[in-house]
Amino acid sequence: EANEKESMYLVSEFAQKYFQNTMLNTDEGQAIGLSYFKERGFTQDIIKKFGLGYSSENWDAFTKEALGQAYKLEFLEKTGLTILREDGRHFDRFKGRVMFPIQSMSGRVLGFGGRILTNDKKVAKYVNSPESEIYHKSKVLYGIFHAKQAIAKQDNCFLCEGYTDVIQMHQAGIENVVSSSGTALTPDQIRLINRLTKNITVLFDGDAAGLRASIRGIDLILEEGMNVKVCTFPDGDDPDSFARKTPHDELLRYFDENAMDFIQFKASLLMKDAKNDPIKKADLIRDMVMSISKIPDRIKREIYIQECARIMDISEEVLFNTLAQLVQKDI
Ligand code: ATP
Ligand code: MN
Ligand code: MN
Ligand code: MN
Repeated sequence: EANEKESMYLVSEFAQKYFQNTMLNTDEGQAIGLSYFKERGFTQDIIKKFGLGYSSENWDAFTKEALGQAYKLEFLEKTGLTILREDGRHFDRFKGRVMFPIQSMSGRVLGFGGRILTNDKKVAKYVNSPESEIYHKSKVLYGIFHAKQAIAKQDNCFLCEGYTDVIQMHQAGIENVVSSSGTALTPDQIRLINRLTKNITVLFDGDAAGLRASIRGIDLILEEGMNVKVCTFPDGDDPDSFARKTPHDELLRYFDENAMDFIQFKASLLMKDAKNDPIKKADLIRDMVMSISKIPDRIKREIYIQECARIMDISEEVLFNTLAQLVQKDI
């Protein structure tokens, strides 16, 4: 219902201001939250631009303040900002975390990601707002509000994994960047980008999980009829850590020189294993053709078949036959 959603937006926007104020204007917030972001190299300007904040360690500071300002408990609970305990008492979902507001394409606050300040492996590093009437995780991309103009202008979208990747890239002067932040990439998220550009460059973390996620992402992007490139990072780096230590021009050059189309990416990833092993090589080729079969446009399919044939040193005819079988199955 429209009124209910509006009330949830208003509570979320209040929370964003509250967390930001807690960080900038309280002793605890400055000492813990602000200094955390400063240590990560975030400037005051970028902190304000992304509306970053801090939630106090106090177990119900936010809920009390919101109720005091006449926000209704109903909407505090529906947005997940307040959790009702079985004994009837309520407490804050986010405590002692730095806060990343998640905004819609039009800039409304839908929910939050909150990060602990330590690297304690026993505690969930990020807590996110629950799914709600205004926050549908599978349909939201972190950073889209601040990125949309640059995406259209550059006719390309960099797609990362995390909140800090988006922010650090902005700080490095690259604004056409969003992240899926905590959900596996979905078709709805890709369609959000598709409204602004047909070109996605995947920038996932330089670790095994990042590579796996890239491989999954590629097929989804191809299925939407979009063009996908992948740029990988040295092991242990993600766009945040890499952008932080790389000057703007060098960063752009790195993306330029290292972005591969999906055939090159899969070859670079799997060729080492497959080079001297005919069975693995056959699997790799089938895998590539499988990705190619997702592309709706027939001309593009043919172009990638040609590239695959060249890179894998196999005849186009065999590949076209394999493709024909796969595309047939689709129909
Ligand atoms: P940081 O640099 O702050 O450690 P990151 O973005 O590099 O964060 P990753 O571990 O690479 O963190 O995870 C990528 C993204 O996945 C995060 O930004 C966050 O959105 C989400 N995520 C990570 N851990 C969790 C978790 N425990 N619960 C929910 N979401 C998570
Ligand atoms: Mn990671
Ligand atoms: Mn990461
Ligand atoms: Mn990181």
